[in-house]
Amino acid sequence: MIADLSAADLDSLLARARADYDAFRAKGLKLDMTRGKPAPEQLDLAEGMLALPGNRDHLSEAGEDARNYGGLQGLAETRALFARTLGASPDRIVVGDNSSLALMHDSLVYALLKGVPGSAKPWGREPDVAFLCPTPGYDRHFAICEEYGVRMIPVPLTGDGPDMDKVEELVRDPAVKGMWNVPKYANPSGDVYSDETIRRLARMTTAAPDFRLFWDNAYVLHHLTDDGREILNVLDACAEAGHPDRAFVFASTSKMTLAGAGLAFFASSPANVAWLLASASKRTIGPDKLNQLRHVRFLKDHDGLVAHMAKHKALLAPKFAAVDEALEARLAGTGAARWTKPEGGYFISVDVVEGTASRVVQLAKDAGLLLTGAGATWPKGKDPRDQNLRLAPSFPSLSDVKAASEGIAICILLAAAEAESAKRKDAA
Ligand code: PMP
Repeated sequence: MIADLSAADLDSLLARARADYDAFRAKGLKLDMTRGKPAPEQLDLAEGMLALPGNRDHLSEAGEDARNYGGLQGLAETRALFARTLGASPDRIVVGDNSSLALMHDSLVYALLKGVPGSAKPWGREPDVAFLCPTPGYDRHFAICEEYGVRMIPVPLTGDGPDMDKVEELVRDPAVKGMWNVPKYANPSGDVYSDETIRRLARMTTAAPDFRLFWDNAYVLHHLTDDGREILNVLDACAEAGHPDRAFVFASTSKMTLAGAGLAFFASSPANVAWLLASASKRTIGPDKLNQLRHVRFLKDHDGLVAHMAKHKALLAPKFAAVDEALEARLAGTGAARWTKPEGGYFISVDVVEGTASRVVQLAKDAGLLLTGAGATWPKGKDPRDQNLRLAPSFPSLSDVKAASEGIAICILLAAAEAESAKRKDAA
């Protein structure tokens, strides 16, 4: 542990860390570990889709012309293909266009402007609207809240979901209308919500009668291990607990097929589906049904989807292993960082020495290595401990991930040694 080193040993660690950093910087690399984008090889897995449906294949099973307007809820066969993944029957699924984030954004905006089933008035007419934000979390969720003036209340994650004692206490405030959740392989913590966490979320008493769980199951099939994790069906749990309208489930094929040209989904109770469609019908005459047909032709059925996801795993798992190896090799036993070993998803979350995350990002940047900004995983971009970093190893090549991870470890160690040295100087 760095904190236990003698003054002389700390000086020599600092000198060594600086030398390693200078050598890394001298390589003049250009590396980017900022965003959870699929790599080109992953997109290539779905290259066959670009020729589909093709061959004058434009009719749905029900005989609808997928080239034309209409079909707001999505083709029946597309909803059936994803029903198991979403944990909802096809009649409780809406297929949107390519972005689930857009569906989340629109759901919140509709709630603010019009309210949701069970609202006494639009959320936007309440004096104060707040969302619980399990933290570290997804920066784009927080950005939606910030954009529309929704107050964000951070709640710590425990490894199997949010601290439920805290959540149950906070929802006694009627201003708390919603909560963000990435229930499986969370971005970036890798949390997988336990059955008990999901039951408590479904059952808890909320002061707001129109409280909603924004259940972003973005990584539902995105396993990194052979035996992927299953979580409890939140729609069923809410219905069993007497709160059938509590959860809005979101997902997409952004990281299954094509990140910029996938399908997004909303799944919920009949009342919530009718509510979304009512507003959606003012926004659009219908979604891109050719893309829905393309997905059905390419993936075929649930087993086809699962088989496709195994190909992603084969490309991604070595990259995650490379990050872990590099961090382990340089940081094990130093006390300079703790990091997650996710079983799925797209991110590794690293907690560095308190107060050094920004320094690590700056050191990395100066050496040609781009990291997600420190604080990005917290509401309004402000990590009160300046401690959390999000690593996204999916996009760079395996050799770049190896080089970047070594660089990250070097920066973390240097920042930790600098901080310890400064602390001792202050104390002296
Ligand atoms: N939710 C989470 C948790 C994500 O990490 C991401 C992508 N990084 C998204 C949603 C974006 O989804 P989509 O492409 O469907 O808009």
